Amino acid sequence: MLGANCFFAFLLFSAASPALAQESAQSPAASGEKAPDDQLHMQTGRIGLVIHGGAGTIERSKMTPQRERQYRSGLERALAAGYEILKQGGSSLDATEAAVRVLEDDPHFNAGKGSVFTSVGTNEMDAAIMDGKTLSAGAVASLKHVKNPISLARLVMQKSGHVMMDGEGAEAFARENGVELVDQKYFFTQERWDALQKIQAAEKHRTGAAGKRILITDEDRHGTVGAVALDKNGNLAAATSTGGTTNKRPGRVGDSPVVGAGTYANNATCAVSATGDGEYFIRATAGHDVSALMEYRGMPLKEGAQTALEKVAKLGGTGGLIAIDREGNMTLPFNTSGMYRGYVGLNGKFIVEIYQ
Ligand code: ASP
Repeated sequence: MLGANCFFAFLLFSAASPALAQESAQSPAASGEKAPDDQLHMQTGRIGLVIHGGAGTIERSKMTPQRERQYRSGLERALAAGYEILKQGGSSLDATEAAVRVLEDDPHFNAGKGSVFTSVGTNEMDAAIMDGKTLSAGAVASLKHVKNPISLARLVMQKSGHVMMDGEGAEAFARENGVELVDQKYFFTQERWDALQKIQAAEKHRTGAAGKRILITDEDRHGTVGAVALDKNGNLAAATSTGGTTNKRPGRVGDSPVVGAGTYANNATCAVSATGDGEYFIRATAGHDVSALMEYRGMPLKEGAQTALEKVAKLGGTGGLIAIDREGNMTLPFNTSGMYRGYVGLNGKFIVEIYQ
């Protein structure tokens, strides 16, 4: 049913806009925009950080300068938080957690404070973190009251003896460990609420006769935040956090907390954080695929990431991912018209981009 919802929303969007396939086939050079590939294979030396704030159909025409500034500033603050830790010799785990926390606290991104609503008007969040050195991982799902799910994921990894915890049990564990819990009201944002109303109205029209067309954008539907980093000791880490998809069934869990799907890190290869249609990223085991292609096929990072994303696309999924390898190469592919993203380039310069 959820899949059907997403499919319907996608159809509605496609009907009113250029097909996504065309958008992704369009050469960025032809559109006068900077190709994501220009960012590839940046060498940062011993440390590196890449972040994302979700991929989807992000249209310049719908973006006000003020809104764009807000997104950019959120991404820059996240880069600053993570990079400061790496620069001081801190760990990639600390850096990715810090970067993700900034985005969780920013209402513009679908994670923490800005999480989308389920079909019954609640907020349910998922997150995961993974340590490339030990292959330890912590994941949480269907949280309703944890202000910063990524920090609970980290605690699950370090203190619970488990890898994945969900719902009430995860929140009881949070309480025991002094993790900040908040009322569901904290997660209310008018914009996300309106998106839920829009999607539910579109659903109703679908079941009726010739209803009026309601434009559903990817911004209405989903989003996620994530970070991957390489620290000065050569350790890789990945962290991902999300409110999931608007109008999802209560209890639905996406790819973000699924180790090997939306989040993966392995010092032997790379660290990956994904965003997009979660069901497809789970079925494609996207995060682990990037790593496996590098480990078993000897593929370079960029090619491995592209191949994994193509597998997602073949199944029918859209989205993107960020990845970094142990040499500090970075890649940020996506098959949508935009992905909120940023990385620390040469000389510690912060690069933040949104469109193709
Ligand atoms: N992957 C997320 C999920 O399915 C949503 C997104 O990244 O847009 O929960």
